[in-house]
Amino acid sequence: MPRSESAARVSARMTPPTDKTAKFRRGRTRAGLGLFATVPFARGSRVIEYTGEFITPDEADRRGGRYLFQVDERRVIDAKGRENLARYINHACRPNCEARQVGRRIFIFARRAIAPGEELTYHYGKVYFRAFIAPHGCRCASCMPPVIPPRPATRPPPPPPPVPRAAGNGRPAATPRGGRTR
Ligand SMILES: [Zn+2]
Repeated sequence: MPRSESAARVSARMTPPTDKTAKFRRGRTRAGLGLFATVPFARGSRVIEYTGEFITPDEADRRGGRYLFQVDERRVIDAKGRENLARYINHACRPNCEARQVGRRIFIFARRAIAPGEELTYHYGKVYFRAFIAPHGCRCASCMPPVIPPRPATRPPPPPPPVPRAAGNGRPAATPRGGRTR
């Protein structure tokens, strides 16, 4: 049985966004979708629960899928439902969150103070990293720092001076063409 907050489900369509969803927004990242904070989180605070269906590792292998969280040797959470926003949190090698087991449940905690607008990340673990991330190359911020685009010119460059028509040796004024010599 998927665990769900029945109270929040009663009239999900009728009610404005709950406090839970208002704290986050999904957004595009280099790794696809990610989850971003829309409110500040204090260091050490509980950010969100990783909810889903508890299944066995064998069942997880059968199902496959991208949103599996290995709790221990016997249990995996399959976060199939879109209501689990925690499943959109991407891996990072120097993350701002961490996943912790509290009783039978998995929560994402803030490792440091998080400002609104920051993408939430946690380390998926060495086993997962070696198996699924390393083969394709990690795209987290510390492995692939953002490319800083060149500062745009504040004003367009002046137009080239007019080529004098019948001056000098008759060739048009030399214009650089990228170093080709033919
Ligand atoms: Zn990385």
